[in-house]
Amino acid sequence: MAGAKHGVFHEKTSPFLREKMAESPVDFLRRQYLVDPAESAVKDLEVDRHYHSEVETVFEGRALRGVEKLYRRLVLVEPTSVCAAHCRWCIRGQYDTFTLNEEELDRVARYCGTAPENQDVREVLVTGGDPLMLVDRLDFLLDAIERHAPNVRVVRIGTRVPLQDPRRVDDRMAHALRPRSTFRIEIATHVNHPGELFSEVREAYQRLQDAGAVIYDQTVLLRGVNDNLDTLVELVEELRELRIEMHYLFHCVPIRGMDHHRTSLAEGLRLARLLTSSGRTSGRAKPMFTAMTDIGKITLYEGTILDRDGDGRVLLRSGYSHQDRLRWTPNWRLPSSAHVDEDGLLRVWYLDSTGGAEPATAASGATAGSA
Ligand code: SF4
Repeated sequence: MAGAKHGVFHEKTSPFLREKMAESPVDFLRRQYLVDPAESAVKDLEVDRHYHSEVETVFEGRALRGVEKLYRRLVLVEPTSVCAAHCRWCIRGQYDTFTLNEEELDRVARYCGTAPENQDVREVLVTGGDPLMLVDRLDFLLDAIERHAPNVRVVRIGTRVPLQDPRRVDDRMAHALRPRSTFRIEIATHVNHPGELFSEVREAYQRLQDAGAVIYDQTVLLRGVNDNLDTLVELVEELRELRIEMHYLFHCVPIRGMDHHRTSLAEGLRLARLLTSSGRTSGRAKPMFTAMTDIGKITLYEGTILDRDGDGRVLLRSGYSHQDRLRWTPNWRLPSSAHVDEDGLLRVWYLDSTGGAEPATAASGATAGSA
């Protein structure tokens, strides 16, 4: 497991992104990839991880690196923390650099298939870093999952390589993503602005689809990039056209020094409501507006926000059972931001943003029912 650190998140872009940034006024790229002086303004309560899943996993008598588990059906595997470019607002900037070797990947696959707490596991999410940066390792991992974990029916791969370095999507990658006998492959991607869908990017996604992958999208709501209705409507329409399913619209995580990328939850809810309930998008193109909290993802429905404190945090209600969590992840510990309610379900405090406006007072902030 990569240890969290509070070091410098170096600026990293690919030749492709540099080319595009040099071409035209593409603020939506610069804001996502270039270091901003505002990053030095670290706020109290900002975090270095989006949730506290970093429990030590012990398997076959030894610690197992590169595995996280919060949910019943899903194991998250991180074969590498390397990416083609560094998205400034991403949690991965706070991780140490690491890559798992083949022996470790084989153990990860055996863990998915044989650990007692994983008997209900049906999916593996391969993330990082970007797993498509190390295609041969990914190929090895997929073969190992096929061999050791026949319970796994879906392998999801999180990547921004098609957007950041589309030339990498080649025959070797298509071969690594070939269909396996025991699971299907889905690709999770983040497209945050319709302008990112350059012709090279569209072709790269098409090549992945030709290799047999189903692709879905998880957009991050970013201040000054996509926090307006017209941009979001255009984005979901473009993705629908490309047969990329819109899944999540994430509220930007309160990562250290990245508040300038965040909107308030109230603004996110306003945009999500207009995006989903205004008739401007079709039913197959509507994302769920979701926050990544210390206990996992919470989609914001009516009544999800229960309270607001004087530190700018909101109390969110979840449907996660504490007992189930301990059953599926025996070493999991309740984070200090969370507690268990009278029904045994987890509630968690989550840092909101003012979105650049004056801070709301506890009395004027969103409370019960405002979601
Ligand atoms: S969003 Fe993906 S590509 Fe960007 S820094 Fe995070 S892990 Fe890397």
